[in-house]
Amino acid sequence: MFCARCGKEIKGFGLCVACYLDLNPIYVENFEIVRCPVCGHFLYKTWNEKIDNMQIIKNIKFPEKIEVRKIDLHYKISKILNFTARIYGKYNNEEFEREISGKCKIIKKICIECSRSARGYYEAIIQFRGNEVQIKRAMEFLNINKKFISKVEEVKNGCDVYLTSKDFANSLIKIFSDGGATIKLSKSIGGVKDGKTVFRKCILIKFPDLNVGDYVLFKNKICKILKVGKILICEINNKEKRIPINKVAKIPKDELSNYLNTIEK
Ligand SMILES: [Zn+2]
Ligand SMILES: [Zn+2]
Repeated sequence: MFCARCGKEIKGFGLCVACYLDLNPIYVENFEIVRCPVCGHFLYKTWNEKIDNMQIIKNIKFPEKIEVRKIDLHYKISKILNFTARIYGKYNNEEFEREISGKCKIIKKICIECSRSARGYYEAIIQFRGNEVQIKRAMEFLNINKKFISKVEEVKNGCDVYLTSKDFANSLIKIFSDGGATIKLSKSIGGVKDGKTVFRKCILIKFPDLNVGDYVLFKNKICKILKVGKILICEINNKEKRIPINKVAKIPKDELSNYLNTIEK
């Protein structure tokens, strides 16, 4: 058979791919992408860290008789978003490949998390207490997830961190308890919202006063700490041993020599 428009030989009836796409071009509909200027997340159904390819692909419009097999998408984000889509498809028993480029505006909108922390909103308070070195390390860890932090308050023997997400606060419990800290949970009344009392979760995280290089007593033996955690890794008689943190007693540095004497006798 021959194409009714250009006369090229074709497998089916009617038009060849080139003519069909000439008359019914693939095009990109105008669209916008919403991005939070604070954390850089994208809005598509919900707030996501990355762009969902469908966010772009759904705006590429295909003529009715085109069967799309595959789309390879590449995009670049600056002030606007530029993209190229390589389309693999089929029309009238003929396979084809086409490339289409497009761009769209990026609209700025503060996401839910960022707007909550800007307003001083919080769902949980983490109270870090105890070992200063470990509190400092914990704060460094939390600062990676800054968007969840609503406020930080220095207090007498530690600091209180106000978090915008209860789920994020909960995820910290395991991390710090595995790290050797004792955890205590409580609730505080955070006011009334829509006629209901709102409770806020309070998580007290107390770090043990133990650091790498400290000496502890375990079953009347002196051990040196190699790693701090719920399970300590210690050195006893040149051997590594795993000991639960609640089974040891710390030896103050100035009393270490006394201990060494008594035990060796
Ligand atoms: Zn043709
Ligand atoms: Zn944000």
